[in-house]
Amino acid sequence: MTTITGETQLVGVIGYPVKHSLSPQMHNAAFEALGLNWRYVPLAVRPDRLPEAVRGLAAAGFRGVNLTVPHKVDVLPLLDSITDVARLIDAANTISFEAETGALHGTNTDLDGFMRDLDANGVPITHESKVILLGAGGAARAISVGLLQAGAEVVIVNRSVDRAAELVALLHHNLHGVKVQAVAQDQLARVSEGAALIVNATPLGMWPHVDASSWAEDVPFPAGAVVYDTVYRPARTKLLRDADAAGLRAIGGIGMLVRQGAAAFELWTDHGAPVDVMMAACLKALRE
Ligand code: NAP
Repeated sequence: MTTITGETQLVGVIGYPVKHSLSPQMHNAAFEALGLNWRYVPLAVRPDRLPEAVRGLAAAGFRGVNLTVPHKVDVLPLLDSITDVARLIDAANTISFEAETGALHGTNTDLDGFMRDLDANGVPITHESKVILLGAGGAARAISVGLLQAGAEVVIVNRSVDRAAELVALLHHNLHGVKVQAVAQDQLARVSEGAALIVNATPLGMWPHVDASSWAEDVPFPAGAVVYDTVYRPARTKLLRDADAAGLRAIGGIGMLVRQGAAAFELWTDHGAPVDVMMAACLKALRE
């Protein structure tokens, strides 16, 4: 790894807590692979200190930061500009600091990360695709925008149906002519028929609660569907194991994580991201 010098460029991730983030290992491995004199650091910032932290990092010459829970929405009023994608999702996970002016530019690479990973896995999304999206939080918001922009019909199934309905209203407001509806969990069997893709965007199944799944036990998976779990710790969640057992294609969320990181890396450095190196670094960190 290059020595830290006066030329070293700094980026990082702001979260609270942030110690479980895989992003430092992922980005630092990428910098090392390309011989870039950059470093990526985890920064635990309490919610009430977000404004001073963001402005302080810009003033200290950082090139950018990622935002994770709980800062993705609260950061928006602090930014000088946001991309259309961040506006549609109403959350930013990546900021670039402009060196000359100190201006803060925000975007959201979660959408790109998810859609790029579907593409990398050869999962086509067309106007014929019906998708069951489990969850209506921040991840579901980014994923639903990506799927609807690609022309899919999206059915959002959430524990609190009111929250799903709010998301549907926002999507109809921000995107014109899209096919999206909210349904309660007890309607899953009725609406899942003919679905080509099922996406879990809830934390259910995440370590240490590895025996939980967002898919109701008594509902059969739709025939031939691909099952995608955004959870990546563990790599094979109960949802994915159940989908495997039903003979379905089952994809874990590590690729989304890597590809949202790759999009941020490319934005900051102007270099193509070494996706394989980033994936290997994440898998190694998960094993440890
Ligand atoms: P969030 O904004 O807090 O939303 C959580 C969603 O999960 C809500 O819809 C919530 O339902 C639902 N939920 C939570 N606990 C539940 C339970 N016990 N039973 C049923 N539903 C439950 O979180 P988020 O930011 O969207 O993240 C969700 C998950 O996505 C994360 O835990 C992470 O594993 C994954 N993720 C992965 C990536 C990646 O790159 N692979 C990126 C982002 C997120 P209610 O509305 O009813 O509360």
